[in-house]
Amino acid sequence: MQTKNKTTNTKKIKINIAKSSGFCFGVRRAINTCLQLSSSKKSICVLGDIVHNNFVVEKLAKKGIKKIAKIYKTQNSVLIISAHGAPKQIFTKARQSGYKIIDATCPKVKDIYRISRRLEKTNKVIIIGDKNHEEVKGIAGQLRKKPITIESDHNLPINKLKRIKKAAVVTQSTQTMYNINRIMTRLKKIIPSAKLYSTVCRTTLIKQAEIRTLPKKNNLILIVGSATSANTRRLYEISRSINKKTYWIENSKSIKTNWFKNIKCVGIMAGASTPDEIVASIVTRLKQLSSSNPA
Ligand code: SF4
Repeated sequence: MQTKNKTTNTKKIKINIAKSSGFCFGVRRAINTCLQLSSSKKSICVLGDIVHNNFVVEKLAKKGIKKIAKIYKTQNSVLIISAHGAPKQIFTKARQSGYKIIDATCPKVKDIYRISRRLEKTNKVIIIGDKNHEEVKGIAGQLRKKPITIESDHNLPINKLKRIKKAAVVTQSTQTMYNINRIMTRLKKIIPSAKLYSTVCRTTLIKQAEIRTLPKKNNLILIVGSATSANTRRLYEISRSINKKTYWIENSKSIKTNWFKNIKCVGIMAGASTPDEIVASIVTRLKQLSSSNPA
């Protein structure tokens, strides 16, 4: 695999891989948990995707880690909770259904659980995040009272918010500060005392900071990750807002030759759940394109 933060000089196209490209520690930890259990004689399952990357999910499936869509009665099976976490009810239901649980929830997501539970004692909890994302469902599922989830400043539930006197706002770990600040500005007009406890994780902050400079230094940007990856989507959105020649690809097969006409410098940033081997195959493909380009 190519060393990150190094420039590869192919014949005609320079390739710059972002320093923070690829796995975060929570994803690496969850995958290692699966790999360690894959040699077990027991049936090993994950509810949903262990991380949001199709290549990783398929690779683990080949090693016997099954993805299940719902919990069913079992005996002698192990259920791995994904890096995104899960609501308390899932843990209860899985235990009652006969699973032994191995919890691979990222410690940074568990920090959000702890912070939200503490804040709930004296506040209405508001989550800034994607309503249907497992992480957000997991945070909501730690609380005694249903929190309010807000995705953007366009969809504030004004009537519900008007009834709140004291609110504490936590965030999905992969949100952008741009989205958070826009929502907070509107929210404070409705609940002036609303207080933000930003729980965006450090990896996200580092990746998002780097993707604000990479598109300025390169003619074209490739953001690498599966369509289900929330952090990849945000990297794409930030990059695209700076450099229109930004493409979100799952792997080297998604690359289109006609993107690279007159392109001298390509920046690559992989999402937090994208393995290095996918980036390596993209670099190989770019080198092939570069050497076959007659221009
Ligand atoms: S993006 Fe952050 S919170 Fe999510 S798994 Fe990675 S380190 Fe953990």
